[in-house]
Amino acid sequence: MASAFTHAFSALALGSLFKTTYSKWYYWMWGMICAVLPDADVLAFRYGIPYDHVLGHRGITHSFFFAVFFAAFVAILFFRKNTIFSSSWWRTWFYLFLCTASHGILDALTTGGLGVAFFAPFDNSRYFFPDEYRRLVVSPIGVKHFFGAWGVRVLKSEFLWVWIPCLVIMVVGFVKARLSR
Ligand SMILES: [Zn+2]
Repeated sequence: MASAFTHAFSALALGSLFKTTYSKWYYWMWGMICAVLPDADVLAFRYGIPYDHVLGHRGITHSFFFAVFFAAFVAILFFRKNTIFSSSWWRTWFYLFLCTASHGILDALTTGGLGVAFFAPFDNSRYFFPDEYRRLVVSPIGVKHFFGAWGVRVLKSEFLWVWIPCLVIMVVGFVKARLSR
């Protein structure tokens, strides 16, 4: 995994590119939930489900299939002001989909663990991006190991390779919003 902070921050950056009829904090909160939630699959370890199982860590909850359906689930249940399948609904769905899918993409850029089952449940192979792009120091599973030298190395790499590009995206989103007013 990348750290939960970085997954959430990516959702904020993506959110800055979209127009919404909802208040920004509500919209961003759901984006952040979508971006962080795939790691709920670490519970699988507690139930003895192996890492490389389709229900294991970085398995189905990290797939594009999950992102499509989870984004629809959230858009239907928590964005009821939007008529389902209207253009504002699709825009919200797309934002939530990108946030959820961004999770697996960031994980596939990390240096450790098993790869991401992007195409589960149809194909349970695990994928990473090519080694030259895997610059994110993998985050420890569980909070205990995060506070220490390992956590610092994780945050340093994420700041450089995720936070800075996200800040650039946010500035672009802000300028775009200003120009379209
Ligand atoms: Zn993950």
